[in-house]
Amino acid sequence: MDFKQCPLKYRFRAIDRIPEPPSRNALRGTVVHAVLEDLYGLPAAQRQPVRAESLIVPSWARVAAEWPEVTEVITDAELDGFLGEVRTLVQTYYRLEDPTRFDPESREARVEVELDDGVLLRGFVDRIDVAPTGQLRVVDYKTGRAPGPTQETRALFQLKFYALVVLRTRGIVPTQLRLIYLADEQILTYAPDEEELLRFERTLSALWEAILDAGRTGDFQPNRGWLCAYCDYKPLCPEFGGTPPPYPGWPTGGTTESPDETLADAVAE
Ligand code: SF4
Repeated sequence: MDFKQCPLKYRFRAIDRIPEPPSRNALRGTVVHAVLEDLYGLPAAQRQPVRAESLIVPSWARVAAEWPEVTEVITDAELDGFLGEVRTLVQTYYRLEDPTRFDPESREARVEVELDDGVLLRGFVDRIDVAPTGQLRVVDYKTGRAPGPTQETRALFQLKFYALVVLRTRGIVPTQLRLIYLADEQILTYAPDEEELLRFERTLSALWEAILDAGRTGDFQPNRGWLCAYCDYKPLCPEFGGTPPPYPGWPTGGTTESPDETLADAVAE
């Protein structure tokens, strides 16, 4: 999706790997995900709201230990307010699902598959539920708001991506894909069909080819649009008076024969 949105942004993020500063929103999302992952690690009967809230501080401590720079984003003075925002999102979650009523098959599962033409897809799925009937549901938590019409394409891209990985790894089409938007208490569901997923697979392959083409030449053009408002690379972008650093070449060292970066990495980020 980064490449479709702006090839230059994709280059900065996936090839140059120029770090983006952690944002308050991203940190809040990470902590909420950690809480929900830990919550589903408990026996179902213990997954009460008060227990979920008790997981917030340890989850924050874990995130802070992994990313020492978070204290620059959330200062000590801001921490209570930040943890309060996390608590509100966790409380909202209980209005959308009852975690005491089922056991997920997996949480934060790493999924990976290589398509017939060699394109490697990789991602992390927040939760997979399997019904006694064998029907499978893929669930993804979002701590932001449900997308408006302009952002819906991005959400659908991600959903189809997960559905395709499930189809290729398990040989079944998921019955439902569910995006849970905690900020505005919305659930977006999608029931894929196999033909649509196979078309999407061809789209991914074509996209990867386009990325490889750009990777050979280093020709990653900027594509100015409304999402530039959220881009941390503006100071390096010619559209905003910046100068990109010299193209470092493909991550494997200039060859495109065996790229170690995958389309899925870009999607996951
Ligand atoms: S500022 Fe806009 S055009 Fe420039 S790299 Fe970022 S998304 Fe692309």
